[in-house]
Amino acid sequence: MRPTRQTLSGWGNHPRVPCAVYAPDRAARLSALVSQDVEHALIARGLGRSYGDAATNHDAGVVDCTGLDRFIAFDESTGTLTAEAGVSYADLIDVLLPRGWFPLVTPGTKFVTLGGAIAADVHGKNHHRDGSFNACVESFTLLTPTGELLDCSRGSNADVFWATLGGMGLTGFIQAATIKLRRVKSPYMNVTTTRVKNLDAMLDHFTKTDHDFTYSVAWIDCLAKGAALGRGVVLQGEHAEPESGRNTLPRKRSKTVPFDFPGFALNPLSVRAFNGLYYATHGSGAAREDINTYFYPLDTVHHWNRIYGRRGFVQYQPVFPQCDGDQGVRAVIEKLVDAKRSSFLAVLKQMGGHEAGPLGFPMKGLTLAVDLPRAPGIEAFLSELDRLVLEHGGRVYLAKDGSMSADTFRQMYPRLDEFKAVKERLDPQGVLSSDQSRRLGITEQA
Ligand SMILES: Cc1cc2nc3c(=O)[nH]c(=O)nc-3n(C[C@H](O)[C@H](O)[C@H](O)COP(=O)(O)OP(=O)(O)OC[C@H]3O[C@@H](n4cnc5c(N)ncnc54)[C@H](O)[C@@H]3O)c2cc1C
Repeated sequence: MRPTRQTLSGWGNHPRVPCAVYAPDRAARLSALVSQDVEHALIARGLGRSYGDAATNHDAGVVDCTGLDRFIAFDESTGTLTAEAGVSYADLIDVLLPRGWFPLVTPGTKFVTLGGAIAADVHGKNHHRDGSFNACVESFTLLTPTGELLDCSRGSNADVFWATLGGMGLTGFIQAATIKLRRVKSPYMNVTTTRVKNLDAMLDHFTKTDHDFTYSVAWIDCLAKGAALGRGVVLQGEHAEPESGRNTLPRKRSKTVPFDFPGFALNPLSVRAFNGLYYATHGSGAAREDINTYFYPLDTVHHWNRIYGRRGFVQYQPVFPQCDGDQGVRAVIEKLVDAKRSSFLAVLKQMGGHEAGPLGFPMKGLTLAVDLPRAPGIEAFLSELDRLVLEHGGRVYLAKDGSMSADTFRQMYPRLDEFKAVKERLDPQGVLSSDQSRRLGITEQA
């Protein structure tokens, strides 16, 4: 199979690098590619929704897995789906939501493939209750770089199963997966919105109410200071019962951002105005919302990442252990406010203490996600944030990372050697690597 030359980036639009892209459209072609003598490194890619450099390979190979998009089997009595790894949440929801099934764990966009969801072991608004994506993964087939097809589950090749969940594509190519879905009675949600005046009140609210809701997430005004630091709006939801006349998803015309916005379009003033307006217009109350509005609000604007302009942006997502309380989150928000680094979107949620692989991100505690424009000095600022996160016993999510140093990564992910042992066994020639894995020292520099 011959590659095409393409310039690729993650969702943060930085860095944009030349890659040799292979696009197998069926499993047999993927196997043939792996047995072919490709002289450069390879990494799998789904829909490119990881923010940094996890699915890029500067002057080396990227295997676009979105052509592996077949549904293989569905057992309606148990909600068990087997599908190829390039099937997206959007495909899955289109086909199965009308039949009363929804993913058990979903990230905040449906433009993510099953392969990408496994490789990042994605989490959703229900992590405090249900854990990450691994909770619904029964098994998957993994094509290793030596051409072996491994069946992986909790009972078979368990170490490979866990290393692949969160392993950022470095153990092999996920070919197909069997996952369990959630039965839902309608495509609607009952959403309870609560406006909260600061971070203390936010934590208090989480502690008192999160166990009553399957889904819970807070939007935070990252520019509020002093007594209002950490103020925001908590959105907690449950799948709704059917209601006469309102049981199909409303048709929405999606919009698109056709080009990169100029740098001046987004500045501290526009971000402050947006945050203030959001807080002012979201009072406490209850509403019925369709599933797309609740889970995927950003998906209605295609290419929204272009509003950050050609320089791109970063999404920074740390998690802090429960014993740290709100100290780590507070320290990061204070740093953002002091540095006048604006964020349109800051999201806070509680995570539960569920099983994870050696490179698993979640820990029981609090996770914060903020979007930051790539303004001058951003790299040094991110290093300062990394230092704060380490001081508070936390770690940064690899699906969002694009800047961490190898040393910081090793400290944040103490099970790295366990991961490497599995990787080296499956990939003795070191075929699989990405720009991220080389930066983080998981794989060798070319
Ligand atoms: C708007 C938005 C909201 C998001 N919200 C959340 C959220 O709430 N929670 C969360 O956890 N994440 C979230 N994310 C991140 C996203 O869910 C993950 O980055 C996910 O991995 C992206 O999947 P993808 O198919 O686009 O994979 P890519 O970004 O293309 O690749 C991501 C990783 O998966 C690997 N990979 C992809 N396909 C395969 C395969 N077939 N075999 C082996 N490895 C593979 C790649 O090598 C790479 O390491 C969000 C992203 C966006 C843009």
